[in-house]
Formats: sequence, C-alpha cells, structure tokens
Amino acid sequence: MTLSPVMPDVSAQRQSDRKVPAAPTRTWFSVAPHLQPRHVGDRAPWGVVHAGISGLGTTACGISRTTWFVFWHLPFDGRKPESCRPCALRLAELSRRVAD
Ligand SMILES: [Zn+2]
Repeated sequence: MTLSPVMPDVSAQRQSDRKVPAAPTRTWFSVAPHLQPRHVGDRAPWGVVHAGISGLGTTACGISRTTWFVFWHLPFDGRKPESCRPCALRLAELSRRVAD
C-alpha cells in the first residue's frame, strides 16, 4: 500500500511578489523598526518612519522591513518630520509618473 503525500508548495506563491509595485495609487502605510513605548491609544512608531506596502518586503527606500512593525492605520505622510526622506522622495517620484 502506498500513500501519496499531499504537500502543497505554499512558498512558491510569495516568490513572484518581489518587484516594486508600479501602481502608486495603492496606499503606502507607515512601517518602523521600533514601537513607541508606553504609548496611549493606537500603537505608534518610534524613530524614523518609512513607507511600506502590502506584498513588498522592503520599504520604499529599499530596506528590508520583514521584522518591522506595520501601522496599517497610519498612511505614510512624507511631510512629517519623522518621515524617511528617501521614502518620501520615492513616493513623490511614483506619483509624478502617474500624472504623466
Ligand atoms: Zn525609508
């Protein structure tokens, strides 16, 4: 008697999602390596805030964010002083491309 093992390959599904998304209309949210301690209310980032998007394992400026905190409730705002400059520039560049 032989049993054919059913082993769905889930790892292959995420591999195709590596490229930088070309659709800047998708919402970029705030990501940060640290969480603000003793923050009251919604959790808040601590330090420099970068821009992240679902399906991409790096920030807009190209840093791996796989172990970082994700703040889905905080859309990335490049005008804030704590926002990462390269991330803000990258998003501005993407939105300009759409306007063309
Ligand atoms: Zn950044």
